[in-house]
Amino acid sequence: MPVHAAGIGGRILKGRVTAMMNGDEYLKSLRNMKKTVYVGGRKVDDFWDHPLLRPAFNCLRTTYDLESDPNLDPGLHRLLVAQSALTGGRVSRFLQIVRTKEDLVARIEMQRALMRYTGGCFGGRCIAGAVINPLWSVTEEVDRATGGKTVYHERFKAFMKKVHEGNLAVMGNITDAKGDRSLPPHLQEDPDLFVRIVERRKDGIVVNGAKLQQSGAPFAQELLAVPTTALGPEDGDYAVAFAVPADAPGVSFVNDSACCNAKLLAMEPGDIGNAAFGMHQSAHVIFDHVFIPTERVFLCGEWNATRLLVHRFSDYQRLSSSACRSGYIDLCIGAAEAMADYNGVGKVGHIREKLIDMSIDSETIFGLAAGAAAMPDATTSGVLCPNTFFVNAAKLFMNGALVRCAQKLAEIGGGILVTRPSGADLEIPGVGDLLRKYHKGRNGVPVEDRLRMARLAESLSGLASITPILSVIAAGPPATQRLNFRLLTDFGRNRKAAERLAGIGKK
Ligand SMILES: Cc1cc2nc3c(=O)[nH]c(=O)nc-3n(C[C@H](O)[C@H](O)[C@H](O)COP(=O)(O)OP(=O)(O)OC[C@H]3O[C@@H](n4cnc5c(N)ncnc54)[C@H](O)[C@@H]3O)c2cc1C
Repeated sequence: MPVHAAGIGGRILKGRVTAMMNGDEYLKSLRNMKKTVYVGGRKVDDFWDHPLLRPAFNCLRTTYDLESDPNLDPGLHRLLVAQSALTGGRVSRFLQIVRTKEDLVARIEMQRALMRYTGGCFGGRCIAGAVINPLWSVTEEVDRATGGKTVYHERFKAFMKKVHEGNLAVMGNITDAKGDRSLPPHLQEDPDLFVRIVERRKDGIVVNGAKLQQSGAPFAQELLAVPTTALGPEDGDYAVAFAVPADAPGVSFVNDSACCNAKLLAMEPGDIGNAAFGMHQSAHVIFDHVFIPTERVFLCGEWNATRLLVHRFSDYQRLSSSACRSGYIDLCIGAAEAMADYNGVGKVGHIREKLIDMSIDSETIFGLAAGAAAMPDATTSGVLCPNTFFVNAAKLFMNGALVRCAQKLAEIGGGILVTRPSGADLEIPGVGDLLRKYHKGRNGVPVEDRLRMARLAESLSGLASITPILSVIAAGPPATQRLNFRLLTDFGRNRKAAERLAGIGKK
């Protein structure tokens, strides 16, 4: 490969520049794998093209297009492409080994901007970084503690070099089935409720168990599994970290079932909202006696390393989800403002106030995440981890902010978010035109735009069943209830009472 200088993240990087895999090549690589994927009770070979999974797959495919083609969105390209210290070439920032504050900050900027771009989940890639960096640091610490008797770090490095060379889609697998949550793994009635080593061979190990709720898992090329919880001495067999190709014998995926999936299956794309990138999809990943060769085993019984590992990947994942949700609220603000404008109330005071409140929430989440990235904790491996206080504050604040923003979006957008007619209704002879007439908003706004944005807003609000939106907006929007307080509160009485107490005016 020729040596070029490539502009990445505003810096000039020198190194071996390899062409990065684009979306089509990524799809081709999935086609070449022999995965076992079940959706809705059936085995599906072309799972990436299943109506339920296609939009979620598009999210990941888009990351590859944005990485490989700087012209699609130069700003996002700069954020998405990083330099690999392992190959000297370029690699997705999702896979980068994080060694500087700038790397961490760029990571959250990328996640926020990418979420604004798709409004969908790219969990099949983002959780990789949350596992890769903690595992990088912990394997280094374990090998140092054993005085070189273990070589996990070198193995992991070799694995990551291959991952960087191919810019592979790696899925970090964390959450175990867990059974009785009050019991550690070895006390569970069924020993497989946490992924465990069932056999140790000369050339590797055999693992059994399942990782549940795995975002975008069927779209992975490689699975990277780590324990979900801190383990004790009797849980040595559960202290296992490994990588396995996603089509290895014994690995299967069962897509999760959420009620909102029915919408993706039943509706025309124009009625769905975010049809391109759609709704979050996750899956059960089942490991049924899967052989893992030694060179892909990165922890094998070191229970005392798991507390640190869990701590670090939790913080990393909280950093990702906070940055991501900040971008999501940005999108909610956009949809809310568009709806207000289409409804002719874009400049009304109480609407602008709500939009500002949403923006404060988004920036507060991002600010806390940025603080966590800018004041990281160092590890002896050189990997930096987000500041624990700030990143946990970001995640906790985000939980509430998202609910507040969903409510505001419903309140600003109006009942049309859940009551609009479908595309098919608009085609009813003699009635479709009447529906268009009665769904018109402000002059100059095409009725189709208003209807499309209403559906996107419904989908973004995450309230996409009738009751939550009905509760916010039906019986009159909350601003009208507040109006009653403005009209009926006896401000004069209250003021007089305060002035009397302060000794002002007549006693
Ligand atoms: C849509 C979605 C996508 C996800 N994507 C991923 C992913 O890509 N990768 C991944 O690894 N994970 C993923 N997760 C899993 C997520 O991290 C878990 O949902 C989370 O860790 C909680 O686990 P749980 O759902 O089993 O809840 P539970 O463990 O059942 O918790 C339920 C409640 O019980 C409490 N509880 C549980 N155990 C105890 C205890 N011992 N003592 C006291 N209280 C306890 C909890 O605090 C909580 O309040 C995803 C989850 C969802 C919903």
